Amino acid sequence: NFCNVTGHIDDCTCDVETIDAFNNQKLFPKLQKLLQSDYFRFYKVNLNKPCPFWTDQSHCGLRDCAVKPCEPVSVVLVTLMHLNVRAVSGVLINTRRAILEWSRHDDEEERFCVADDEESPDSQHVDLLLNPERFTGYKGPEAWKIWNSIYEENCFKPYTVKRPLNPMVSYTRLCVEKRAFYRLVSGLHTSINVHLSARYLLADNWYEKKWGRNVSEFQQRFDANLTEGEGPKRLRNLYFLYLIELRALAKVLPFFEQPAFQLYTGQPEYDKDVKSALLEVLRLARSFPLHFDETSLFAGDKSEAAELKEDFKKTFRNISRIMDCVGCFKCRLWGKLQTQGLGTALKIMFSERQIEALPKSTGSKPGFQLTRQEIVALFNAFGSTRVH
Ligand code: FAD
Repeated sequence: NFCNVTGHIDDCTCDVETIDAFNNQKLFPKLQKLLQSDYFRFYKVNLNKPCPFWTDQSHCGLRDCAVKPCEPVSVVLVTLMHLNVRAVSGVLINTRRAILEWSRHDDEEERFCVADDEESPDSQHVDLLLNPERFTGYKGPEAWKIWNSIYEENCFKPYTVKRPLNPMVSYTRLCVEKRAFYRLVSGLHTSINVHLSARYLLADNWYEKKWGRNVSEFQQRFDANLTEGEGPKRLRNLYFLYLIELRALAKVLPFFEQPAFQLYTGQPEYDKDVKSALLEVLRLARSFPLHFDETSLFAGDKSEAAELKEDFKKTFRNISRIMDCVGCFKCRLWGKLQTQGLGTALKIMFSERQIEALPKSTGSKPGFQLTRQEIVALFNAFGSTRVH
C-alpha cells in the first residue's frame, strides 16, 4: 500500500483497513472466479452510438484502444444466451403469457442510466476477458474534454449560502446527496486511473509487449505531496464507490434467490454451479458488518427529496450518455460498463420496497427487474472497483 491511504471514510462508519481486509481476503477471490464464467464475461454493448453532445468527435486510432472481437466459439455461445434471455430480462419464465406480461413492463423510469438498445444491429457482445481494462494511451485535450464536461456540467457544484443572522458571512454548501454524487463520479475516475497505472504498458517492441504496475504513474496521480493533497481524497472516493456497490449487492440478494431466476448459457449443470457461486458472493456481501447507511440520503422533506432524486437520476443519465463521446473504444467500453454498473447499483438502492415485495410478486404483476446487461455490468463494475 504505497499510497498510504488509511482511516475513516467520510459519511460512513467504515474505514479503509476494514474494506481492504474484507475484500482482499474474502470477497474478491470468489468474485474474480465468478467474473470468469461464461455468463459474466460477455457484455452486450453498442460502441458505435454517435456522441449526442458535440459533433467534432474523432476516434483516437491508438492500437491499444481497439476492442478485440469474440472468438468464433464464443459467438455461438452468446447467440444462444441472447435467444433465451432476450424477452425476459434476466429472469427465465416459461409460459408465453408471463413472458408477454414481463416484456410489457417498462422500468425505464427506474433507471439511472441510458441503456443501449440490445436489439440494435450495432450492439455486439464483447468478451471482457479478452479486453481487460488497462493503459491505452488515451489522454490529452480529448480525454480532458470528457472529464471536464462530466465535472463542470454534470456534477452538482457547491452553492453559496448567506447566513441569515449575518448576511455578510457566507459559506458554500453541498447537501449530503450531491456530495455523495460527486464522490461516486470521482471514485469512477479514480478506478479508471488506478487501472491504467496497475496495468501499464511497460515494454512495447517487436518481440514483446509487457503490462504491469507503474508505481511512479500511480504516485503522480495519487500521492498527497504531488497532488496538493487531492490524491488521497480521490482514493477515498473509490472506497466510497465500493461501499455503495457493496450495499447494492447485499440488497439485491432476494432478486437472485427467486427460484425463477436462472443464468442461461445453454449448459444446465454449469449454470447451476454459477448461480450457487453468485449467491455465495451476494451472501458474503450481506455479511459485511459496516454497510453504508443510505437512509440518510433523500431523507428530508418528501417533495424536496423526490425532486432531488429526479435531479440525481437525470444528471447520472447524462453522464452515461457522455460515454458515447469517448474517442478510445476500449475506454468507451469500460466507461459504459462502469457507469451502467453504478447506475444499476443506484437503481437497486432506491428500489428497496419493490425488492422486498419480490417473493410475493407473481409472474403477471412484475415487480423489480434487472436485464442481463445490467447484471453483467453491476458485477464487473464492482470487480473493477478496487485498489490493486
Ligand atoms: P485526467 O485523469 O484526464 O484528469 C483530468 C483532471 O481531473 C485532472 O487534472 C484533475 O484535476 C482531475 N481529476 C483527476 N482524477 C480525479 C478524481 N479521481 N476525482 C476528481 N478529479 C480528478 N486511459 C487509459 O489508459 N485506459 C483506460 O481504460 C481509460 N479509460 C478512460 C475512460 C474514460 C471515460 C475517460 C474520459 C478517460 C479514460 N482514460 C483511459 C484516460 C484517463 O482517464 C486520463 O484522462 C488520461 O490518462 C490523462 O490523465 P491526466 O493526468 O491528464 O488527468
